[in-house]
Amino acid sequence: MKLYNTLTKKIEEFIPNEEGKVKFYTCGPTVYHDQHIGNMRNYIGHDILDKTLRYLGYDVLRVMNITDVGHLTSDSDSGEDKMVKSAKAKNTTVMDIAKYYTEQFFKDFKLLNNRIPDIVAPATEHIEDYLKIIEKLLEKGYAYEQGGNIYFDTSKLNDYYALTNHKEDNMVVGAREGVEFDESKRNQSDFVLWFTKSKFEDQELKWTSPWGVGYPGWHIECSGISLHYCGEYLDIHGGGVDNIFPHHTNEIAQSEAYLGHKWCNYWFHNEHLMDETGKMSKSKGATLTVSVLKEKGYNPLAYRFMCLTSHYRKQVVFSYENLENAQKSYLKLKAKINLLKKDGETNLEMQKNYRDKFKESLEDDLNTANAITVIYDLLKETGNDKTKYELIKEFDQVLSLDLWEEKSIDKKLEEKILEKIKERNIAKQEKNYEKADNIRKELEKEGIILKDKREGTIFEIIHKN
Ligand code: AMP
Ligand code: ZN
Repeated sequence: MKLYNTLTKKIEEFIPNEEGKVKFYTCGPTVYHDQHIGNMRNYIGHDILDKTLRYLGYDVLRVMNITDVGHLTSDSDSGEDKMVKSAKAKNTTVMDIAKYYTEQFFKDFKLLNNRIPDIVAPATEHIEDYLKIIEKLLEKGYAYEQGGNIYFDTSKLNDYYALTNHKEDNMVVGAREGVEFDESKRNQSDFVLWFTKSKFEDQELKWTSPWGVGYPGWHIECSGISLHYCGEYLDIHGGGVDNIFPHHTNEIAQSEAYLGHKWCNYWFHNEHLMDETGKMSKSKGATLTVSVLKEKGYNPLAYRFMCLTSHYRKQVVFSYENLENAQKSYLKLKAKINLLKKDGETNLEMQKNYRDKFKESLEDDLNTANAITVIYDLLKETGNDKTKYELIKEFDQVLSLDLWEEKSIDKKLEEKILEKIKERNIAKQEKNYEKADNIRKELEKEGIILKDKREGTIFEIIHKN
């Protein structure tokens, strides 16, 4: 499989550290606000990569964190803690805020048919992991204590900017307009690993550490959690493009300084969802979530379809008009698929041909738009519904668009029908054709049609009562 790697800035052949196995870490949500549909595009991208790797036969371990502590208002280390700010605004506790938004997040995550990662780790449950790394970084001389906080010393690295295109001299590192420079830092690009002193004395969540009571910085969370579950060699690390700097840059710095060797081989980044005014972001008024789209009458999977018909490395502009068009195409495609008949023989040549095309599209840096085109092409083929049906069901393991609506049958009803069929067979054996016919008619009235085939009696439900 070929993947674009932000680290090398090239499309490369993906080769995991251990044959057949993939260790895949993705940055999860900050749970002090709703995740908007832009955030969710990022998780759809991760989900497709996760499912593609599994479809291609890899044994994948996917880990995702939940940032429930330590993410300040800006990506730099000054500002107000986001969790505390939100808790204060809502007059509740930080952990209640985290719980509420974590639940909201997973609700929307599931509405989009995303697979829950194998491990979901809240940052507050891994304090020991961060302390272990920070202690070692201090010991190795990569970190220093100043003004009550522990900082990572970026000047100790030759290639701190390896992941970015940024040049050190034209960058005010990690700082945004209106954010003051932290006097305790030796270098502007240094970042906090552990806070014991901050401007916010009312920080709710604190833990004891060798340097006093405090809390972790944001970046150390992802390194700590990833190293804990994925070990010293990570295959793929994912996030949104805005995570490249400073977050992922800092993750590489601290993880590799701690380990003493290269940490992650492939860096996978999803482009942004835009609106008319630029990047969709939480600071822009009311948050547009997947649940809100659903309330407005849109199918969440139409939004997934809209994302998948674009490449993950291209910006997508959101508008209701675009979503409506995507929904129309999506529902039309589904309707066509659901007219397919399940019977007949599988055409093995056709199956191989289309399966190869589908795989090739995904192996080409996750070209989901082409993968969907393969389905349209397949539907245009003449004859053999069974092959089409089977293939589309298989492809949907990756796309997760519910392209085929399995008409679910109530277990109790099925048992009842099977019992009636048995009764009818006995009646027929006893040459009591009137009884056999009555059973058939009785079921027919309930919308259950019996068909006598050479291999036995099968049934079809026309409508469910
Ligand atoms: P946050 O909860 O703010 O840390 O954001 C969660 C994820 O959403 C991050 O990995 C971001 O890269 C990503 N993200 C934020 N805004 C957008 C956007 N407009 N489009 C796509 N992804 C985004
Ligand atoms: Zn992260």
